[in-house]
Amino acid sequence: AADPRLQGISDAIRVVPHFPKPGIMFNDITALLLRPGVFKDAVDMFVERYRGMGIAAVAGIEARGFIFGPAIALAIGAKFIPLRKPGKLPGEVISENYTLEYGTDCLEMHVGAVEPGDRVVVVDDLVATGGTLSAAIKLLERAAADVVECACLIGLPKFKGFPILLTWTQQPRLIGS
Ligand code: AMP
Repeated sequence: AADPRLQGISDAIRVVPHFPKPGIMFNDITALLLRPGVFKDAVDMFVERYRGMGIAAVAGIEARGFIFGPAIALAIGAKFIPLRKPGKLPGEVISENYTLEYGTDCLEMHVGAVEPGDRVVVVDDLVATGGTLSAAIKLLERAAADVVECACLIGLPKFKGFPILLTWTQQPRLIGS
């Protein structure tokens, strides 16, 4: 049976049509953040999954991975690593460029943030094509991290209608069900 918390999490995500441009169904997690019990359920479900797995680091993707990632990291006793848009990190960085539907983007990480062999979970709010998470995985693996899993609240478009916790490695799949 599905974890009963999933429905509440799903219901708390607001879908805004045609934002930020026509045709995009924007999944807005700020509505979920206004409901502390549901916000806690979402964090707890990830914490229950990753606690005791020897996770050394949670890597959060700018910007919405910075909302869920640190809460998970603190609860499981892992360090938090921000994966940022270009030009934001002051130290020496490694960069990974990736292709979007229109144009390209880039993620950066501080050199030395991960130790070789660190077991890492990558966190973002949503996976659509997986391009962003793939870039994050590449960046971490270039630093010799062991990426265990990616954790997102929402999966698009395959899981449309199931905007709930899922993991993404090669293929998205639901957890907690
Ligand atoms: P992708 O790289 O195609 O998997 O896109 C995932 C990234 O883009 C995540 O960082 C999401 O926050 C953002 N994103 C893509 N599509 C949406 C959407 N429909 N609603 C909200 N965020 C989105």
